[in-house]
Amino acid sequence: MGRRSPAGAPRPHPPARAGKGLVRALVRVGTGATRRHGAPRRPPPDGMVCLRCGAVFLRKTWRRSRRRLLEAAARSAPIGRCPACRSVAGAELPGRLRLEGAYVGLHEAELRRRIANVAARAAFTQPQRRVVAIAAQGPALEVTTTSQELAHRIACELCKAFGGSAVYHWSEHGARLRARWRRD
Ligand SMILES: [Zn+2]
Repeated sequence: MGRRSPAGAPRPHPPARAGKGLVRALVRVGTGATRRHGAPRRPPPDGMVCLRCGAVFLRKTWRRSRRRLLEAAARSAPIGRCPACRSVAGAELPGRLRLEGAYVGLHEAELRRRIANVAARAAFTQPQRRVVAIAAQGPALEVTTTSQELAHRIACELCKAFGGSAVYHWSEHGARLRARWRRD
């Protein structure tokens, strides 16, 4: 758990490129805030493109959009990895949801569709929150996500759509969620 391969270590951000100053100025106008409350990880430079998924960091958010990507490409943006892709690579998945009960085996396709649907909606506004895998484990389904919020949301949506019940176990600092949804 606490082990981390050297390859997974955070790499320094590439140097700033032309155009960054302008983008940053716009960002300042948009948000006004200077954020400096001892964040553990430095924010990526504005306009950074995730090499793995193509998300672009602008106005303090990672977003996957064709327009952003084209704009970034036009100004030779800095490249790196977004938190979702880092999380996948480092196998530190904060969200885990297990679907159990007889209902799961009988309605697997519907459940998968519903999960994909919730994930797609989340990806639209917050691409760093993603479903990594939906794996069958015997009669159960195991959903892993890049954020505990998404795992929580999926469990809530399953309760709304299919009934059943969910239990949640957060880690000490709330960074990870192990949830279980059950319907017999
Ligand atoms: Zn990414």
